[in-house]
Amino acid sequence: MFKKILIANRGEIAVRLIRACKDMGIKSVSIYSDADQYAQHVRLADEAYNVGPPPASQSYLDIDEIIQIAKNSKAEAVHPGYGFLAENHNFARKIEEAGLVFIGPPHEAIEMMGDKMAARKAMVKSGVPVVPGTEKPIDDEIEAIDIANKIGFPVLIKAAAGGGGKGMRIVKSNGEMKSSLRGARSEAKSAFGDDRIYIEKYLESPRHIEIQIIADKHGNYVYLGERECSIQRRHQKVIEEAPSPAVDSTMREQMGQAAIACAKACKYFNAGTIEFLVDADLRYYFLEMNTRLQVEHPITELVTGLDLAVEQIKIAAGEKLSFKQDDIHIKGHAMECRIYAEDPIDFLPATGFIHRYREPAGPGVRVDSGVYEGMEISMYYDPLIAKLVTYGKNRLDAISKMKRALDEYIITGVITNITFHRKILEHPAFLKGELSTHFIDEYYSEPDGFSEDESLAMAVATVINDYMDKNKASSFKMGNGYKTRRGSTWKMKGRLQALRSR
Ligand code: ADP
Repeated sequence: MFKKILIANRGEIAVRLIRACKDMGIKSVSIYSDADQYAQHVRLADEAYNVGPPPASQSYLDIDEIIQIAKNSKAEAVHPGYGFLAENHNFARKIEEAGLVFIGPPHEAIEMMGDKMAARKAMVKSGVPVVPGTEKPIDDEIEAIDIANKIGFPVLIKAAAGGGGKGMRIVKSNGEMKSSLRGARSEAKSAFGDDRIYIEKYLESPRHIEIQIIADKHGNYVYLGERECSIQRRHQKVIEEAPSPAVDSTMREQMGQAAIACAKACKYFNAGTIEFLVDADLRYYFLEMNTRLQVEHPITELVTGLDLAVEQIKIAAGEKLSFKQDDIHIKGHAMECRIYAEDPIDFLPATGFIHRYREPAGPGVRVDSGVYEGMEISMYYDPLIAKLVTYGKNRLDAISKMKRALDEYIITGVITNITFHRKILEHPAFLKGELSTHFIDEYYSEPDGFSEDESLAMAVATVINDYMDKNKASSFKMGNGYKTRRGSTWKMKGRLQALRSR
């Protein structure tokens, strides 16, 4: 087993991986940008080294510098986490060439699955159903219109090198094609340096259901059940759960086998996720493979009892899987709410200093975070504050625990989506498990979702808050004897600002 691992990431995932190292008795090395000098992942690691200025391109994405730090610190392996360099096949290859071990899949598999068109082709060959669409890049508008008419509008233009919802455009008619093609192409070019685009049938209100797989370097493959990630905004996940309320054991096995066929097609090892879209008739179609640990991996950990980060490290060190498919039993229900510093109205990132910070706890609650009181949520990085995860004996139990945890969570100073999560959890369709990727658009298209009473309360909160600011008071006693603390009015003020910025 490795003695020392470098973690090429920041934030909650770096902290989570340091914890895995500690659990295994492995020393951990962190890297940090100038903006992260006091971050949790720096404090918790055994060693930490500055990797450059705040912009990620000069720090967390600096391949040569990271490899140099790994060598200097005598780390034997590198874990990329998710985001940044996690799906960069050059990074994986260079790590191996430097005589280190990449904790992830072979670089060839990352390269193949990183090209969505190549991945679709491989899936068709392996007999895995894919969303109807093109196998070749689209060259011009006439070809695109021809294809769209064949598969039927609406269609989705996607970037071959896509990720993070970038380079995607929904096209509903011939007339929209030209400008959408141009928009998608230029977005793909600037985000990925690759402007190849292709067309897929746009499925109306699908569910997003993905299968976690794990494989060792000895040809053993196991699927670890599914996660449903249909609650999304701007094509990005907000709430995930395992198991999916739509999947029964037969469907789980079929999708699991399809996922394994997919992993075998690219000679995969380590942890990976195969994403599917599922239509109203519960037909599933391959969407893409994520060749890394997912943000939402904790919910699979809770329902399977496995530690995926630990398993990843063991696989990278050459160990065989210690379990077989028959040993995997999905037990209970887990749910994850991504707590973002963002405006719940327009979903744009919010920046600022975290003024007060108190995490929820208690039975069935897990918080994966990397923040602290006084920390700045800057514009340089993803505004994810924490992943709030709950585990219950069934779905309703996990939801109840999530509501309790959301209520206990105190974050002031930056606007968060905590209240928005709460609203989703209370929605009758959500409670019934009637989910689709359009859930938020469908039910929360009204700009605020706040009642008049709430708006009034926020206005009052602002006045009280200003009074406390002026008088340097930490609490305020109203005429009726009700006392309010500074934290609660800050929270309310944040929501008022969100309303005003409409
Ligand atoms: P990215 O890699 O950019 O995140 P994905 O291909 O994983 O893009 O898709 C992200 C989300 O976009 C999906 O979860 C789904 O909500 C939506 N989406 C992607 N392809 C389709 C499609 N063909 N039809 C309907 N929705 C889609």
